[in-house]
Amino acid sequence: MRRQRTVSLLRLAPVLLIVLMLFPASVSAFRYAVAQREGNFLVFVGADGQVRHEATEMRLMYTDEPHRHYYTEAKLNDGRWFSLDKENEDIILEVQTFNPTILYRLSREMPLYSMPFNGPSYRLGRMAIPGEYPVSKKAYDFIELQLGGGQSGWIQVPENGTDLTGTQPGVFIDQPLTLDHRTNLQITVEDRFAPEISRVQTIMVPEYVTVHNASNFRPHADALWHANQHAALDYLPGVTYHYAVDHKAAYLLTPLNEATYNAGDRYLAGNGASVAIEICDHDDGKYYPQAEQNGAKLAAAILYQLGLPKENLRFHKDWSGKDCPYTMIRNERGSIGVEAFVERVETEYEALVMAYGAAVSPFKTASAPPSNVTRPESVDLPDRTEQTIMREVIVVETREDGVEETKVVMEVVNVSDLADHGALPYVAAGVFGLTVLSGIFYAVRQSKKRSGPKF
Ligand SMILES: [Zn+2]
Repeated sequence: MRRQRTVSLLRLAPVLLIVLMLFPASVSAFRYAVAQREGNFLVFVGADGQVRHEATEMRLMYTDEPHRHYYTEAKLNDGRWFSLDKENEDIILEVQTFNPTILYRLSREMPLYSMPFNGPSYRLGRMAIPGEYPVSKKAYDFIELQLGGGQSGWIQVPENGTDLTGTQPGVFIDQPLTLDHRTNLQITVEDRFAPEISRVQTIMVPEYVTVHNASNFRPHADALWHANQHAALDYLPGVTYHYAVDHKAAYLLTPLNEATYNAGDRYLAGNGASVAIEICDHDDGKYYPQAEQNGAKLAAAILYQLGLPKENLRFHKDWSGKDCPYTMIRNERGSIGVEAFVERVETEYEALVMAYGAAVSPFKTASAPPSNVTRPESVDLPDRTEQTIMREVIVVETREDGVEETKVVMEVVNVSDLADHGALPYVAAGVFGLTVLSGIFYAVRQSKKRSGPKF
């Protein structure tokens, strides 16, 4: 009887090993789209010698196992989804179009490129000379200058310079750095720029307002604390933003014509073309309802004063799928929730239109962005506590006639139980495998010992 059991366990061993080896691989196949939206994108593929593709759709994907891993996919012209490989220097840029053009004043010679990418094959071998140029396109830190005679060329402006005035080769003419305080902003707004070293210092033409929650629930983490924290940043990339707002006041920490690292979307419009507002939910939301109301007034004032349509309000989650604004998404700490917040911003915006007339772009030669701009369709992360997957497990069953039988069955596993464990599944699988093997080894030895004298 004992001998028979040993044989069945030994037969089981290879099956067990195969399942243990396949376990991490099968789990890693689970991918989620965290944000998907339309836009005007350029994809440069490092492996193909920086071949350029145009794309009108992108999405951020992530896998949960064996390690949490985010990556970007772009839908190329041929309809296939291409996964960008950062290691391979694949780059995706979002192209902003200005119609009519904005004027850029170039103050020193800059090399020209045929595309907004500094790969060797895109160098034109010519320089743009100082002067004023109409600009119809911008792609993060690249600006397309209209050179006259139907000619155009891209220049790259530096990112992360230590001196904005010294490193930037020029400026967009008449672009505001702050809100106009002559109008009634209805809340206290203090302009308090962080030192240049604490900012991204990449030129921006704002097209959106992006709302965040600070999600720091400690008692001291109000807007002034955030302003001081931002000013103390002495390295980049850190998280940077334009405004911190609470129940009392708003602080402008980055000029409105500079990009920030707020949205987690690198060279796309969340970082490169939006004014970021952090609404404080400190002291576990004790003052949150008023802070949120101030945030809505601020968002409306920015959209209005920059001449943007009220539909250009965005949330962090729209850009990268991040669970932000955290408090607002959950209707917690007295929040009115995302939908009611959008309505409140629209109401505040309409009130400004009633008081001061239609929103006018401060760019002398620029019109408001196209009116067909729509809120990007974001694919909300499924509630992972309710997500389940099937996986194979081996069970040993005793039949009615007393004979043991091994079977491979499907088991329902809660995804949240698998998330964020890093190397743990491998370690657990290894320990389990060793335990089973040593059990088999022990059983074989025992059976040999006991049955020994009989032979
Ligand atoms: Zn955020």
